[in-house]
Amino acid sequence: MRGHIKAILAIIVLVLIASACSAPVQPVDTPPTEPGDEVVQPGETGEDEGSSGEEDEDEQQNEIDYQTVKPNETGKIMVLMYHVIGDSEGEWSRRWDNFRKDLEVLYEKGYRLISLNDYISNNIEVEAGYTPVVLTFDDGTQGQFNILEKDGKLTVDPKCAVGIMEDFYSARPDFGLAATFFIYYPVPFRQKDFIEYKFKYLIEKGMDIGNHTYGHANLGQLDAEGVQSQLGRMAAETDKYLPGYTINTLALPYGANAKEQYREYVYRGEYKGFEYQNEVVLLVGSNPAPSPVDAKFNPLSMPRIRATDDPAITSDMYDWMDYFDKNPLERYISDGNPERVVIPREMEARVDESKVGDKQLIVYDLE
Ligand SMILES: [Zn+2]
Repeated sequence: MRGHIKAILAIIVLVLIASACSAPVQPVDTPPTEPGDEVVQPGETGEDEGSSGEEDEDEQQNEIDYQTVKPNETGKIMVLMYHVIGDSEGEWSRRWDNFRKDLEVLYEKGYRLISLNDYISNNIEVEAGYTPVVLTFDDGTQGQFNILEKDGKLTVDPKCAVGIMEDFYSARPDFGLAATFFIYYPVPFRQKDFIEYKFKYLIEKGMDIGNHTYGHANLGQLDAEGVQSQLGRMAAETDKYLPGYTINTLALPYGANAKEQYREYVYRGEYKGFEYQNEVVLLVGSNPAPSPVDAKFNPLSMPRIRATDDPAITSDMYDWMDYFDKNPLERYISDGNPERVVIPREMEARVDESKVGDKQLIVYDLE
């Protein structure tokens, strides 16, 4: 009898130990082995080297401690808006050295560049613990992208936005290199001999061109034909320089949208047989934008933030960075894996599960 009780007790203890060991310390499906522990049997490698090998690697890379990293993929994202980059500071212009300072401060505060398209398609590849940020430039001014020509040799002006971003990127490759330039015609970036050169240069570097209407039009003053002419002609003209490149983002000049009855032509339409479609419509507004899984996320009405540190402006990028420092739960923090959406439990109510799609949603408790 005694032996029986001992045996039963021993089994209970073993079960308790076993269940304690297998209880996840983090709410993540932790791989059974530590990185490097894996024993590969001879002959096993040939069979499915492809996808499953990569998956193992992914899982190992994303074994992160949620309590330290505090991923919050329902947090907000800043879409920054620049206009003129040049020698002076003003309401719609940023001095080139201050633009460089902006990049430095963003980098130091843990922000990393992603493209506008990766943001709206929720393909956010940012290292665990970091925050995505989107750069946008309106109007295609020369200081955004200036080419210097000397003895037949072309160089990018080191004081223009593209030159500064590239230089910064070569010093800090983990910051990323991404931006969308919302241009209009007839001479985007104001150097008529280099339009095609600049477009191709930007695309090759992974940057994008967006629609800012053909002639910087106020869409609110146009009818169906006028709206389509402004948006379609811009897209058709760009297609001449970049055949096959799709313009699918729009920044509204003056922040003015078309009248309600013509609004559909802002999203899609046709000009002289050329069809266009805008999946993103950017406002001039002054708030950070919702996470792509937030119920409030609407790519057809996306707020942006003024990229300046002008004390007269109370909701510029520096004000918002301060706000995020004080309200960390409002800030998007990546878990490092674009296939997973990881959020603290207190933010769960913000999520629209239909926007999570095929991704894995992980909710965890902040200690
Ligand atoms: Zn503009």
